[in-house]
Amino acid sequence: MSYKAEYIWIDGTEPTALLRSKTKILADGAEPSVWGFDGSSTNQAEGHSSDRVLRPVFTCPDPIRGGTSVLVLCEVEEIDGAPHKSNTRALLRPIAEQFADQESWFGIEQEYTFFKGSRPLGFPEGGFPAPQGPYYCGVGADAIFGREIVELHLDRCLAAGLAISGINAEVMPGQWEFQVGPASPLDVSDHMWIARWLLYRTAEEFGVEATLDAKPARGDWNGAGAHTNFSTKAMREGYEPIITACEALGQDDKPMEHITQYGVGIESRLTGAHETAPWNKYSYGVSNRGASVRIPWQVEVDQKGYIEDRRPNANVDPYVVTRLLVNTCCSALEK
Ligand code: ADP
Ligand code: MN
Ligand code: MN
Ligand code: MN
Ligand code: MN
Repeated sequence: MSYKAEYIWIDGTEPTALLRSKTKILADGAEPSVWGFDGSSTNQAEGHSSDRVLRPVFTCPDPIRGGTSVLVLCEVEEIDGAPHKSNTRALLRPIAEQFADQESWFGIEQEYTFFKGSRPLGFPEGGFPAPQGPYYCGVGADAIFGREIVELHLDRCLAAGLAISGINAEVMPGQWEFQVGPASPLDVSDHMWIARWLLYRTAEEFGVEATLDAKPARGDWNGAGAHTNFSTKAMREGYEPIITACEALGQDDKPMEHITQYGVGIESRLTGAHETAPWNKYSYGVSNRGASVRIPWQVEVDQKGYIEDRRPNANVDPYVVTRLLVNTCCSALEK
């Protein structure tokens, strides 16, 4: 007997990487082994020397094929075993390891938008829907578009054993959110990439595209972000470390270092309107959805908990945002 393993990897497309996958049939009892692919077709190699290596790093049940089928997330390597330059997971590993004793947790809120053809799902042909208002956490066919896809995606994430923690409809028609976490930097990121793959794969069955575009509709419509909630053990136990982390994110060149790696099109979304802070001005505050970093009101009441970095775009690479936050905040907290 045999089973199916769907090997999933992140490609080298600029400026935003795409997910790729292909199927390997494995003998029963055999572990998913290293595999190869044609990097010249994924922006990961030139044609004359195009073999690249897939190294399995995270495996979970395949909720689509079911049975003994699995999904296998891979890192991409050169044939000599070095991480490919598109492999941002390899950059996160040593940073996560260096600060492991601080026990970082992340919860990432993934916003996204469904498109049918060239328009967001729910936008009428050749026109616009009623302005924002009834859509966020809404109910009813006049407010909600694509719920059957969203529910199926949630069930599949749960069946895969991912740390998905909730879903909600967003402020623009056809726009939704799911949350992954809290979990460690590598776990939250691995689970997020698999959850994204399941989202695209599930929407595909409905003839719908899911996009992480940061500003999918021009005009008075909210963009799509990936608010990143972060804590260390010390932050979960006291308030002073919370302030230390918020201050560290505002030090020197840290705001620019972060913002330039928080996803493509950041200036189009962080305008200062639509519940955002301007991209070029760092701020933090309690309960403030117009700040770069928000301290939830409950965290101030409890004098412990976590912070929310509201800047990352929906199209951010979770391996990058978690690495930057751990590096900046854990370095400051260590002092
Ligand atoms: P919002 O009110 O901003 O919409 P959500 O409920 O959508 O917040 O998301 C909050 C996220 O924060 C969830 O993924 C949750 O798991 C995560 N979270 C909760 N507590 C912590 C913590 N101590 N550290 C990191 N993340 C946390
Ligand atoms: Mn071939
Ligand atoms: Mn949310
Ligand atoms: Mn949201
Ligand atoms: Mn949020």
